[in-house]
Amino acid sequence: MKRMILMIILALLLAGSAGAEKPLRVVCTLTDLAWLAEQVGGQDAEVVALCPGEYDPHFLPAKPSFARRLGKADLLCYSGLELEVGWLPVLMDKARNRKLHPGGLGELDCSQALERVLDIPTGGISRAQGDVHPEGNPHYLLNPHNGVLVMRLMAERMAVLRPKAADGFRDRAEVAVVDLQKRIKAWEKRSASLRGQPVVQYHQQWEYLADWLGLKILGDVEHRPGIAPSPRHVSKLATQARKANVELLLAAPWNHLDAAGKAAGRMSARLVVLPPAVGALSGVSGYGEMFDRIIEDLLLGKGGNDG
Ligand SMILES: [Zn+2]
Repeated sequence: MKRMILMIILALLLAGSAGAEKPLRVVCTLTDLAWLAEQVGGQDAEVVALCPGEYDPHFLPAKPSFARRLGKADLLCYSGLELEVGWLPVLMDKARNRKLHPGGLGELDCSQALERVLDIPTGGISRAQGDVHPEGNPHYLLNPHNGVLVMRLMAERMAVLRPKAADGFRDRAEVAVVDLQKRIKAWEKRSASLRGQPVVQYHQQWEYLADWLGLKILGDVEHRPGIAPSPRHVSKLATQARKANVELLLAAPWNHLDAAGKAAGRMSARLVVLPPAVGALSGVSGYGEMFDRIIEDLLLGKGGNDG
């Protein structure tokens, strides 16, 4: 009898320790990645984002608190394509976390999920000349099909890091994928009238969105990132834009909106400030809400010009 009770206690202890496996600590550089990781991770992951949604992810100040978060992480998910090159390596040096060693299981370059990278430079590119996309355009999460690919990639990596929770990661990812794909169909239908529309963008932020929705990007106001555009460049672009009947100039909340507004005026176009990230504008609290807002604002901007 005593032996039986001991065995039952032992079995309960074992079951308890298996169930109490600690959640995976996931640090994402971006709010979009964090949203996707949360869908996949569920109760088996604790997810945080480093760059707040309202900050330009090219130029995030590297705060010591970010390094502390990285120091405790089991998994780092980042955009890659050099989006975070200005601040992530500095933080990683300070974090000294062996689990996140480059090329190891604890670091996940989410751009590896992509089937296609846009704007890959064809030569003569240098950071000194202000090119911030030397490996191609890193703003790929603005095509929701890429969100699908990234969730699946995350699920596979989380499954390797926490084998006991592998089914949970994969199942949750597929549920989220089905939901996102349903919404993608609805967005595509809702935005059908935007197909073929010529637009101008401030920064090369919207290439993947344009590629998805069929917008035609005529040019960029920003000549060098972070620096107000030259009058000569804007003047040339404005002439082209007027000729092509461009109605919309797309910008992010952190762009030079004064310069963007003036450029839009010269093009007789409407400046549309869209959320390029989860949390970039108030009310944009999820990846789906971001596309809801982007499409509504594009349609509104276009309608406003027609009327
Ligand atoms: Zn960029």
